[in-house]
Formats: sequence, structure tokens, C-alpha cells
Amino acid sequence: MGLEPKSAGPRSAQSAGFRLRAGHARGAVVGARVAAKQVLELKLEVDLDEPEPGQFVMLWVPGVGEVPMSIADYDGGVLTMYITRRGRVTGYLHDHVREGVRLFVRGPYGRGFSAIERGRALLVGGGTGAAPLHFLAKRLRERGVDCVAALGFRSAEHAILLGEMARLCRVEVATDDGSMGFGGPVHEVAAKLLSEERFDAVYACGPEPMIAAVLELARSKGVPFEASLERYMRCAVGVCGSCVLEPLGLRVCRDGPVFSGEVLSRVEDLGRWWRDADGRLVPLR
Ligand SMILES: Cc1cc2nc3c(=O)[nH]c(=O)nc-3n(C[C@H](O)[C@H](O)[C@H](O)COP(=O)(O)OP(=O)(O)OC[C@H]3O[C@@H](n4cnc5c(N)ncnc54)[C@H](O)[C@@H]3O)c2cc1C
Repeated sequence: MGLEPKSAGPRSAQSAGFRLRAGHARGAVVGARVAAKQVLELKLEVDLDEPEPGQFVMLWVPGVGEVPMSIADYDGGVLTMYITRRGRVTGYLHDHVREGVRLFVRGPYGRGFSAIERGRALLVGGGTGAAPLHFLAKRLRERGVDCVAALGFRSAEHAILLGEMARLCRVEVATDDGSMGFGGPVHEVAAKLLSEERFDAVYACGPEPMIAAVLELARSKGVPFEASLERYMRCAVGVCGSCVLEPLGLRVCRDGPVFSGEVLSRVEDLGRWWRDADGRLVPLR
């Protein structure tokens, strides 16, 4: 039931190596606005190899740190990201980054989604997991694929990308507190959609427990599934091992972040454990 994982391709692979040796590409912030509660929309003018939906970049703030970020869009040389405030680097970006500031990027990295060529797709996102799904929805629409997006947020105040997604697909919203759309977890919206409508592929990005739930739904309906995972990452090029999935030894940065349903169903720690900054296995919240 897998969709073939899409390789970054020889051109990207070569240039990823080049970028690693040559350092980061320099970008100028051309947009920084609060998109939702605790979420910054950052637009960076930067020269990158054309990314695939589902790939990510490493965003570096000199003197502060470097973090992996999904690509919500790359259009006309402008990279769009949606950044939740978490700790040191994301907090700095929220508090200090304004138009004109210079930031640095390496990538794009990893294996993206394999967008189907025709038919109907269900996209299930939680929080900033909506970001790579927006880029994917653009690709699917270009191919004439009919999309439905089920997007879950903590509350209406936390919702992002609703207008942008509505231009590309039908959107169903879920919020934990019921302040917008369905009141409850987004996988319950996905369950209803999958029981009432026919889909040729299901794509997901968001908290791992949500991904695990949607994987089970897709499996029970026999629909091909892919999901993008977020793990603690340091090098992003497959060397440090901090993002390894047990027991397969797959690295989220290099072998993912997008994995097929077949692979994910063999990941024992999916939705349960991950490695922290010190490499310790800790339960996922
Ligand atoms: C492939 C990939 C794509 C991502 N895309 C996005 C995105 O589009 N938008 C977005 O807001 N975030 C995204 N993340 C998560 C983002 O990289 C982390 O939130 C960020 O690294 C935290 O850095 P910090 O210095 O602010 O926090 P830190 O000070 O390092 O940590 C603060 C807290 O955040 C937790 N944390 C650290 N790294 C991660 C992580 N990778 N995932 C989840 N929790 C983490 C820590 O355990 C700690 O509790 C992505 C992660 C990956 C691996």
C-alpha cells in the first residue's frame, strides 16, 4: 500500500553535497508576520535548488543555532516557512527576525512526498504539519488531482494556511477545544472522510500519535499512505544518527522525512518514543 518514496534526485543530491562543503546559502527576510498564536510566517528570498514537496531545509541563525524546517512553499525564489515557538532558535526567530534580516539555509534535504498523478488525495495535517502539505497540495493541483485537506489545530487562534489551502482543495477543520470546525482530534475527521469517500492516497504530517492513528485508518481501507516525521536532528545529512528510527535504523533526515505506510508500520517507536538532544529515548508527549 505504499507510494514509492521519491528520491531527491541526482541534481539535488550533488548540490546538497556541494552546499555542505560550501556552507549555507544566504537569504534575506522579505516577510515576517504572526500567522497564528505562537506561529511565525517567515518568507526568505534565497537561491535554492528546486525543492520537492516534503523536503526540508536547515535554517541557521548565526550565534543562536540551526533548526530543520519544512518548506511550505518555494515560489519565485521565496521560501515560505511556518515556525512554532518552541525553544532557543524558534524563540529567537519569533522575537528578533524582521524584514531585511539575513538568515542562512542549507538544503533542500531528504525524500519528499510522491505525489500521485491522478485521482483523489486526502491530506491530514496537525499544527505546522499543514506547512509541507500546502506545498504538496500545490503540486497535486498542478497535476489535476482532486484534494481534500483535514487540518487540526489546538484552537481557532492556532490555525494556519486555511485560506491558502482552500484555494487548492476542500478543507475540513478540527480543533481540540471546538472553537472552529469539528471539536476533537483531526484523525476522527479523517476517519469519517475515509469511510464516506474514495481516495487514492493519504498523506499526513503532524504529531506522531496523529500520524500513527491515520496510518491505521489508511491501512484498514487499503489506501496508500505516506507521512512526514519530525525528529530531533543535528547534521541533517545522515551522519550523526540522532534521528534514527527503531528498529529499522532509518534516518529521518536522509531516508525521510517522508516514509511510506509499509515502512512506518514497522517502526516500533512511531508515536511512542523519540530521541532528545542528548540521544536518549524519551516518550513522545
Ligand atoms: C524535518 C523537520 C521539519 C520540521 N518542520 C517544522 C515546521 O515546518 N515548523 C515548525 O515549527 N517546526 C518544524 N520542525 C520542528 C523544529 O525543527 C523544532 O521545533 C526546532 O528544532 C526547535 O528548536 P528550538 O531551538 O527552538 O528548540 P530547542 O531549544 O532545541 O527545544 C525546545 C523544545 O522543543 C523540542 N524539540 C526540539 N526539536 C524538535 C523537533 N525536531 N521536533 C519536535 N520538537 C522538538 C525539544 O524536545 C524541547 O522540548 C521540523 C522538524 C523536522 C525534523
